[in-house]
Amino acid sequence: MITRSVASVDSLTWQEQLAGSIRDPKELLHFLKLDSLELDSPELNSPELETPGTESLLGQALAASQDFQLRVPMAYLQRIVKGDINDPLLLQILPLKEELRGAPGYTADPLDEQTANPIPGLIHKYHGRVLLIVSPNCAINCRYCFRRHFPYQDNKPGRNEWQQALDYIAGDDSITEVIYSGGDPLAASDKQLLWLTEEIAQISHVKRLRVHTRLPIVIPDRITDHCLHWLTSTDLLTSLVIHSNHPNELDHHVEAALKKLSNAGVTLLNQTVLLSGINDSVETLQALSEKLFQVGVLPYYLHLLDKVKGAAHFEVSDQLAKQLLTELMARLPGYLVPKLVREMPDHPNKVPLI
Ligand code: SF4
Repeated sequence: MITRSVASVDSLTWQEQLAGSIRDPKELLHFLKLDSLELDSPELNSPELETPGTESLLGQALAASQDFQLRVPMAYLQRIVKGDINDPLLLQILPLKEELRGAPGYTADPLDEQTANPIPGLIHKYHGRVLLIVSPNCAINCRYCFRRHFPYQDNKPGRNEWQQALDYIAGDDSITEVIYSGGDPLAASDKQLLWLTEEIAQISHVKRLRVHTRLPIVIPDRITDHCLHWLTSTDLLTSLVIHSNHPNELDHHVEAALKKLSNAGVTLLNQTVLLSGINDSVETLQALSEKLFQVGVLPYYLHLLDKVKGAAHFEVSDQLAKQLLTELMARLPGYLVPKLVREMPDHPNKVPLI
């Protein structure tokens, strides 16, 4: 087993950190000092997880990561408290046996994206906006991810294939906004992103570029000068939507990366997925909004979980979600309260709950 040191992260480029992500459950549990934890431990809040042969945390993690691999880089891992099985960052990345249980209404493609995927790498679902799967890769595999079963192998355009997507956008003058998505679009190189952005900027009816990414949270070193260059040198109006679910994710490295972006004039928004056992308390959501604003990020969306197969154990009821938002509104000024929404297939927009 490779033994890694936290200190070594500081000397690595973001690409090296990405390539060196932990994918082996055994290594993860060893690093976090959880390798001897058994499921019947009173420390573990998962009373239903008892099946012969997979009692250990390692057995669960190995079984549940067959379908959707474990992936977590050291820069994120070092924010997880060692020995704490209920750490809210750990619970986002740890494969558990609950993922293997079926649940009514939970499917592989909960948003029916494959019907809105006219050409490889492009999803056209909402009026005026198209989404490009710029990179099939992520820096981290979030266990609740609604694209955990997405057919990335059919959506991996190279530069030549991108021409089809660019022609599609150029041929529809109702498209005024292009959204970079993934995977994580910032897993692509800055050279590729500069090229794609310049191509899109030449299409006169496209006015805005939006980048949805979790990378500044997961590997803050991703925010390089080259990254700032393509984000800010274009005539497109650019915004970056980060994806943070918990205030513990925002350590001083992340804060520095976000400040770099906001100081460069990039509009920064955040979206959060409401996750049972992770951020379903008003105190956590309040702390997240306040911490985000300190570093120039406005809370944008609080999403109800998309019903993707394997993620049912993260579900928060509508009733609790509404109650949390009501309490949040009573504690914070309006601009720090995200919109509570659900995304639904065949619906022309996200649906607000309150
Ligand atoms: S970073 Fe985003 S796309 Fe990637 S696994 Fe996490 S939620 Fe899914």
